[in-house]
Amino acid sequence: MRIVLLGAPGSGKGTQAARLKAELGIAHISTGDLLRAAVKAGTPSGLRAKAVMEAGQLVSDEIVLAILEERLAQPDTHGGFILDGYPRNLAQADALDRLLKRIGQPLDAVLKLNVPDADILKRTEIRFKAEGRADDNPETVRRRLEVYAQQTAPVADYYAQRGLLGEVNGVGAIDEIAARLLAALDTRPATPA
Ligand code: AMP
Repeated sequence: MRIVLLGAPGSGKGTQAARLKAELGIAHISTGDLLRAAVKAGTPSGLRAKAVMEAGQLVSDEIVLAILEERLAQPDTHGGFILDGYPRNLAQADALDRLLKRIGQPLDAVLKLNVPDADILKRTEIRFKAEGRADDNPETVRRRLEVYAQQTAPVADYYAQRGLLGEVNGVGAIDEIAARLLAALDTRPATPA
């Protein structure tokens, strides 16, 4: 199964993607994790991405697509995958569509985690204290939420128009939310409109 997981920064995409990976036995691809690894490794893409990420803005479509394409070429993704953090704008949604067509692996479903901004701010503050991710400081989180509202929110409509979107309440216990996501996958239309 090939799934895109949408949701604001701090909506629990990473946590839930790990759960779906375990439940469904598919690869978890987080473009944020791939970019953080590139930054840490000091690759040319990582060096270009670092400041942009720290400012809470989006890394260029070109860099992220190259990193994603490389990841999708790895054999563990061939049995299915869950994409976490991609696409983040309409141009990326189009690029993903073209890439997946080319490699003959179209999406089966898109799931969106809905979490109010107030909860997001609380959760990312806890994550900031626990993990020390520079872009989780409250000011940068506000910027990331703006970027999400302006650039990423329209991506949900893009998939709704294609009959692929399922929306899930992302507030509650981790187990509860995981069960809602699995239920949404079970009830999705067999053939997308
Ligand atoms: P995340 O871990 O998904 O919250 O991503 C952390 C940061 O990595 C984001 O704030 C962006 O700067 C960058 N990033 C991750 N995925 C993408 C993407 N698909 N397009 C552009 N930038 C991204």
